[in-house]
Amino acid sequence: MVQTSRTHEDIVDVLVIGGGPAGATAALYAARAGRSCMVVDKGVASGALGMSRAIANFPGIADPVPGADLVARLRDQAARYGATFETDRVSATSLDGETKTAYGAKGAYRGRALIVATGSMGRTAPLEGEERLTGRGVSYCATCDGFFFRDRTVAVVGGTDEAAEEALVLSRLAQKVHVLVPTESLRAPAELAGQLAAHPVIEVHASTLVEEILGAERVEGLRVKARGARATIPVDGVFLYLQGTRPIVDFLGGRAAVSPDGCLVVDDFLQTTVPGVFAAGDVLCKHLKQAVLAAGEGATAAVAADRYLSGHAKLRPDWS
Ligand SMILES: Cc1cc2nc3c(=O)[nH]c(=O)nc-3n(C[C@H](O)[C@H](O)[C@H](O)COP(=O)(O)OP(=O)(O)OC[C@H]3O[C@@H](n4cnc5c(N)ncnc54)[C@H](O)[C@@H]3O)c2cc1C
Repeated sequence: MVQTSRTHEDIVDVLVIGGGPAGATAALYAARAGRSCMVVDKGVASGALGMSRAIANFPGIADPVPGADLVARLRDQAARYGATFETDRVSATSLDGETKTAYGAKGAYRGRALIVATGSMGRTAPLEGEERLTGRGVSYCATCDGFFFRDRTVAVVGGTDEAAEEALVLSRLAQKVHVLVPTESLRAPAELAGQLAAHPVIEVHASTLVEEILGAERVEGLRVKARGARATIPVDGVFLYLQGTRPIVDFLGGRAAVSPDGCLVVDDFLQTTVPGVFAAGDVLCKHLKQAVLAAGEGATAAVAADRYLSGHAKLRPDWS
């Protein structure tokens, strides 16, 4: 991940949530337009492109490349022009007024224009027991809630680099951390996966699906299915980082209009129903979801954000 040199107190011109092909390209175009730009992203391998094993149809990249490498290249290109990147998960936003604010576990990020590029890997349905026990042992943020589980036994559910990082946060607090990975292996970078495998407090369970979160008043355990066999794992808390196929827009709190499928509604310039808030990539409804299209929309959204900041309502042809 590209390092950031910007502080949380700064108000950037263009704040981008999500650093996949849409967000990274938006950052490239915003930075090259002379705009200060910060991208907040929860993890390279947490997005659709970042988790893809090999990409062979991105124009100009002839040899198949792991999706995470392509994301890193797109981000590095944006960083060369001054865009900065922060690793954090945005959980809420404040969109009214001239400054748009995104709230993550590490703090608040502010921009005069906002581009939402969080993709469509959001969950489609909760686990059995999840809604009932949210706030009673079910959490989505180890950095926020980990301290409540000091010296207890917890589970992290998910296989992304975000899940792996959160497991490491919990390993400093909890007595035992079970990492339940739905796929055959973690999708985290090898070094990160190695840290988990070698950690004395962490136990990684591959190919393990959580079927139910158990507990009457508080979380008491998980019913899991691993390679066809069912088992119960006693835990005091569970941290969920699962993925699905729904646009990730929960942090907008319903402030911007979405279609019945949950996709953000935008105009021809990719502006949402909130002035100064734009969207690009898989958060939009379209029949073809491809990295090159997401990148193109990122460019459009950045140019539109630039025009918005200049006080121009409409786009004009631009070949620069
Ligand atoms: C398995 C698979 C294979 C694919 N193969 C191809 C292919 O070969 N060629 C091709 O062109 N396309 C392919 N695609 C489609 C392509 O990956 C997507 O269309 C493209 O990645 C969409 O880009 P995006 O930037 O909108 O979203 P994403 O790539 O999903 O990026 C979204 C980013 O937002 C971040 N994010 C999400 N929520 C938050 C939050 N709350 N806070 C902070 N950050 C957040 C994520 O960490 C992620 O980095 C594939 C998709 C999948 C799932």
